[in-house]
Amino acid sequence: MSECPMTDVNGTLFSLAAADALGAATEFKTPQAIASRYGPTFTDYQPGSVFGFAPGEATDDTQMVVATLLGYARKGGLEGVLAALREWLAAGPPDVGGLTGAALRSNSLANSLDGGVRAWQDSAFQSAGNGGLMRIAAVWIAGFRGAELARESAAVTALTHADPRCVYASVFLTAFLEALAGGQPYAGAAASALQITDAFDGRAALLDCGVFGIGTRDAHLAFRDRERQARAEVRTRVRSGLGGKLTSQSGFVLDTLEAAVKHAGAGTWHACVEPAVLLGDDSDTVACVVGAIAGARGLEVPPYLLAPLRLGHTWPGWQRDWACTGHFPAVVQAAQAQCAQTQ
Ligand SMILES: [Mg+2]
Repeated sequence: MSECPMTDVNGTLFSLAAADALGAATEFKTPQAIASRYGPTFTDYQPGSVFGFAPGEATDDTQMVVATLLGYARKGGLEGVLAALREWLAAGPPDVGGLTGAALRSNSLANSLDGGVRAWQDSAFQSAGNGGLMRIAAVWIAGFRGAELARESAAVTALTHADPRCVYASVFLTAFLEALAGGQPYAGAAASALQITDAFDGRAALLDCGVFGIGTRDAHLAFRDRERQARAEVRTRVRSGLGGKLTSQSGFVLDTLEAAVKHAGAGTWHACVEPAVLLGDDSDTVACVVGAIAGARGLEVPPYLLAPLRLGHTWPGWQRDWACTGHFPAVVQAAQAQCAQTQ
């Protein structure tokens, strides 16, 4: 079970949520449009979300983190997480990623875990968006650690995003969170997490947990053919992000990973998150991943951003007008209590 005090994981959840809510206003905008509307700095929640999120409301990224935690709290393991994500979707959220929607609506058997694999197959094995990476901090917040953390991160990602680039990016990120929360310095934590990623057998993990089955043999073979390259690309992008390079804030998982690693090494919480928000494009998701990393480093969200924080959707287990400060700790505690019994 967790070696980190509960406050650390709660702090990470608040951090990713606040960063996501800051980025909600600038999602899909260009840096030029953002600068002309909001000015050269971005320090508080603003109107302007293309999905109608009010200032202070976090988007699908954080909503799916919380839905994952609600799923774990039901003690259903992966099936519980999948059911909770489907309930979130069924309640009609303002924004749903393309592959996420396809995977969760997959017409395979209701309780089958292979919707993400089938959606990847239907994309001719091309789709590699950031919709798994953006919510995978939930697995670490729920209390998974070490080898279990890598296996669970792979499986939970592949519920919607089964491309090996998505799977290995998530395995890296949660290992990075664990290393940072354990007190390792930034570059050293990234190196430790890359070692775990390089040694991890994603194909075996997805077979063992039932994400790959007899009905998805083509995807299983495609994953096998591409996973070595995927691990190499994750390594390359993490190193370039550490070196200060940013290719794009697009929704491609490796762009998001590189940008987040670049931004999240700054000296204060705001210095990490603000550049992600000001650069626009998929700014809410890049900011959300930055927020997870900054939170695991122990950087604290400015207090004035906590009180107004909400999630921009109502679904079974969550109300849109609930203050995150009043409800996050109980959601985390319930998920951790069940996950402790399954490890
Ligand atoms: Mg979003």
